[in-house]
Amino acid sequence: MLIFQNSILYLTMTLEISPSTAAPNSPSAESYWFIFDENKVLVHISENQVLAFPLQTDLQKFDYQIVNPLYLGKVAEFEAYGAEIKKEDLPIPENWEWRDLRSLMPMIESDWFWIAGKAFQFVNWFKTHQYCGQCGSPTMLKKEEKATYCQKCNLSFYPRVSPAVIVAIRKNDQILLAHALRFPQKFYSTLAGFVEAGESLEECLRREVREEVGIEIKNIQYFGSQPWAFPHSLMIGFKAEYESGEIKVDQTEIDHADWFKADNLPVRPNRFSIASQLIDDFVKNTPVFENELSIG
Ligand SMILES: [Zn+2]
Repeated sequence: MLIFQNSILYLTMTLEISPSTAAPNSPSAESYWFIFDENKVLVHISENQVLAFPLQTDLQKFDYQIVNPLYLGKVAEFEAYGAEIKKEDLPIPENWEWRDLRSLMPMIESDWFWIAGKAFQFVNWFKTHQYCGQCGSPTMLKKEEKATYCQKCNLSFYPRVSPAVIVAIRKNDQILLAHALRFPQKFYSTLAGFVEAGESLEECLRREVREEVGIEIKNIQYFGSQPWAFPHSLMIGFKAEYESGEIKVDQTEIDHADWFKADNLPVRPNRFSIASQLIDDFVKNTPVFENELSIG
């Protein structure tokens, strides 16, 4: 088992995805597996709450049938594989659990959360591209790259990435945060939305903000990006300034939005998320940003 250790705020270790789907060898005893049952991943949780993913040697403890195994690449020097499982409610050995990947966020170090998320995206892609979208024939894995292809019409299918913008909007010393109807808890976050086909990121930002809260923004600046594996988003973060309009929420996605000062923020998203980083950036830069505003 690989143990989670080291508290790190940025990634020092990642799953290096191999371009090829052909594993260099058969899995060694130290190869480890990211095994998913829908959104749930198989983890070992020790009595002192240390989490680990299964190694090849752990798999013999399970009677489960592995489906669609896929060579992913390497974490450090270890080979990594992904698969689904048909567990059919079979009993699970002691200290092993199926856990919703998102629910692991508060429990594991960030490197491992992103590594598992990356594995999830590839396993999920492979699961949903078993048949050709054009002619319906079964697909095959390409050996030389992470793709499937149709043996009949030769169409290729690559892992899907859905770009989404996320934006921290500032008005003097306040930030716009909103509560979405889909949020399970009463927390507030920055606005976000998926990019439509044929739309630039800037057009998408203006449209989403206008649709969701009814205001106009200006001075859009790139902030950073973050893959978000639920199921295959790429969050592209921006900062922007309020230009005009009054907050009027759409009541379909957002049920409340308001301007918040840095010393009076509502409950916030998980620390791993780019939304949280955008809010941290607002808090850190509030006095500086005010000066810049007056110059501009
Ligand atoms: Zn086809």
